[in-house]
Amino acid sequence: MRSPILDYLDGIIAGTDHVDSGALADYIPELAAADPDRVAVALCTVNGTVYASGDTDDRFSIQSMSKPFAYALAIEDRGLEDVLERVGVEPSGEAFNELSLDPETGKPRNPMINAGAIATHALVKRDDAAAVDRILALFSDLAQRPVGIDEALAASELATGDRNLGLAYLLHASDQLGHDPAAAVEGYIRQCSASVTVRDLALMAATLANGGVQPNSGLRLFSRRNTRHVLSVMASCGMYDAAGDWLTSVGIPAKSGVAGGIIGVLPGQVGVAVFSPRLDAHGNSARGVVMMEKLSEDLGLHLMEAG
Ligand code: GLN
Repeated sequence: MRSPILDYLDGIIAGTDHVDSGALADYIPELAAADPDRVAVALCTVNGTVYASGDTDDRFSIQSMSKPFAYALAIEDRGLEDVLERVGVEPSGEAFNELSLDPETGKPRNPMINAGAIATHALVKRDDAAAVDRILALFSDLAQRPVGIDEALAASELATGDRNLGLAYLLHASDQLGHDPAAAVEGYIRQCSASVTVRDLALMAATLANGGVQPNSGLRLFSRRNTRHVLSVMASCGMYDAAGDWLTSVGIPAKSGVAGGIIGVLPGQVGVAVFSPRLDAHGNSARGVVMMEKLSEDLGLHLMEAG
């Protein structure tokens, strides 16, 4: 029998069909060529059951939704204290690609903006493999299938990556990178070009909801404590300069990506993923935000809701 949850998710897609505001990210040529009308939603319980509707098997790039997972890996590798010495945990109130570091500490303000994510990528250990290969192996463990890179997209972003290179050189100049700036940006861009579906993302989010244990394999990928830390940073910084709006209206830790994906995590319960490529002024999926608002309202996901 078809699950009523699937009918409900079909309704989320049908009920947001009118939301066609926003525009495709155009600073990466390959993203500007995407089909703006693709749309999908998925949720995964902490038991590992995935429900999905819409273009559920369409692949798109993970972009900034890679950041919390790479951050978790860097913390597992180095310990929280070492990572906190390099990257802060304060919301920046600025755009994701702002060319700025905290003037008092010289550090990126948090790991969800590009400056912090480039510094974080450089912190992932590379003893046995390149950092990006370790990150892809992690994504594959999270999604329970081999996750690869969209090479055309990676090449397109590398060719237009001056802003991220600028950020990496800024970090290097204030002694915060410990790594060759161009190599760090190349690795970071490849990390962002991993190709995923909403199903993959829902499983990845569900692993965070499940305290760091992938629900299907039972593999512990992050410690409980580190998972709690990453979710806290997602709650305060995951939606960039829209983080306050998001926390009040949707009320769960989340992360968006410029290809149009958003993941959300309700600890102990569920991981959610939505996809729609048109972005609002903050670089978050416009229809994705509306879908998440509806999911939060209907399913009672808001963390600040009593009972
Ligand atoms: N790869 C993108 C960039 O660095 C990621 C940005 C995002 O998804 N917000 O610009």
